Amino acid sequence: MSAVAVAPTMRFLGAAGTVTGSRFLIATAAGRVLVDCGLFQGLKELRLRNWDAFPIDPAGIGAVVLTHAHLDHSGYIPALCRHGFAGPILATEGTNALCRILLPDSGHLQEEEADYANRTGHSKHVPALPLYSEEDALASLKHFAHFPFDTRVEAAPGVHATFRRAGHILGAAVVLIEIEGARRRRLLFSGDLGRPHHPILRPPAAAPEADVIVIESTYGDRKHDDDASLKLFEEAIVRTVARGGVIIIPSFAVDRTEVILSHLSRLIREARIPAIPVYVDSPMALAALKVYKAAIAAGSDEIRPELSAEADPFDSTRLNEVRTADESIALSLLSGPMLIISASGMATGGRVLHHLAARMPDARNTVILVGYQAEGTRGRLILDGAGSVKMLGRYVPVRAEVVNVPAFSVHADQAEVIGWLKTAPRPPEAVYVVHGDPPAAEALRYAIATQLKWNAVVPRHLELVRLDLY
Ligand SMILES: [Zn+2]
Repeated sequence: MSAVAVAPTMRFLGAAGTVTGSRFLIATAAGRVLVDCGLFQGLKELRLRNWDAFPIDPAGIGAVVLTHAHLDHSGYIPALCRHGFAGPILATEGTNALCRILLPDSGHLQEEEADYANRTGHSKHVPALPLYSEEDALASLKHFAHFPFDTRVEAAPGVHATFRRAGHILGAAVVLIEIEGARRRRLLFSGDLGRPHHPILRPPAAAPEADVIVIESTYGDRKHDDDASLKLFEEAIVRTVARGGVIIIPSFAVDRTEVILSHLSRLIREARIPAIPVYVDSPMALAALKVYKAAIAAGSDEIRPELSAEADPFDSTRLNEVRTADESIALSLLSGPMLIISASGMATGGRVLHHLAARMPDARNTVILVGYQAEGTRGRLILDGAGSVKMLGRYVPVRAEVVNVPAFSVHADQAEVIGWLKTAPRPPEAVYVVHGDPPAAEALRYAIATQLKWNAVVPRHLELVRLDLY
């Protein structure tokens, strides 16, 4: 066999030039390992990629190593399993627990979408089929195996993975992949990198030594100003309460809801905002909240040590858990002031659509956007000041106040990414900048190249690189 044939390679099967669909395929003479297995989300042209045949036969992949549970990193797993992947999925305990909530829900949503397309004739395919079903998702969970942080585990013959704390959401890891061979190669995948000031999670662990780093760039062209953003959040609530309005926060079910609740309860405790009723209207967010509470109660190493099990960091005493669809619909009949947190975070679906449709036409109300709003989503349209937004089959006028609070993002900004890269003991041979819209990825690449003088590249979709020669 020639040297070329056995050279280890990496291929960017997603999140290259875009912010979703994280999938990185490592191939060695002994086998293939996929790091992350995400769904493409946002613009239709991207979502259609979910339907393309997987670039290689999933049966030929030995293992999947998962950085964290968010669907743009994990959401393709049920489809991969349905198309023949038979190996293990290596993840941390937190990722495993959250995927048990997120993946079946994703399958359920796929089925609902297919159903909707069939009822309304909105599909070119007759009948429209889901990408995968809830049953597929449940079956894929059997492949999961979970491991502690900072422990070297074998993913495939001669390929080892180590999870290190990423501080992004519970269970989120930066993954170090070590490939044995004539030249041992160390690849570091940032997954989604958290922030030093997450109110619940400890900050990312320092970067270990690596030959190649694959870094996310969601906010590669931004700087978060936490104090200013928190002030915006506080003032928006005070203003809305004075108007007797309702505050709607479209929120990612996992982690963001916990971050918002912990800020809210602190603001109420410090009497900086009135103690208004807070409704969490998302069964998934409530299930994730339980996982976070369990991690705090268990004294998990991921949790900030100052948070103890006795004082609930999420409860402002006015917290109401909304579980059934009837309870959710009944919320629309209540008048303000009150605050509703509901999924999905980019208003692409879920119960928040009913709340937005009911409340956005009234100028007394406020929509607070707290996370990244991908191009092509309703969240982005609202953020960009659209006068009306289509949801539930009709155009809803946006008269409510719209406030953007980027500080609640759980992605590092440019300076924080650079700061984390600097913790690496030596420069890598190459940095691949992924998981960002093109301007954000390019801005981070430029910052790495000029500030750190490292070799940094934004890879192309489906690009293949060799890992042995530099
Ligand atoms: Zn994430």
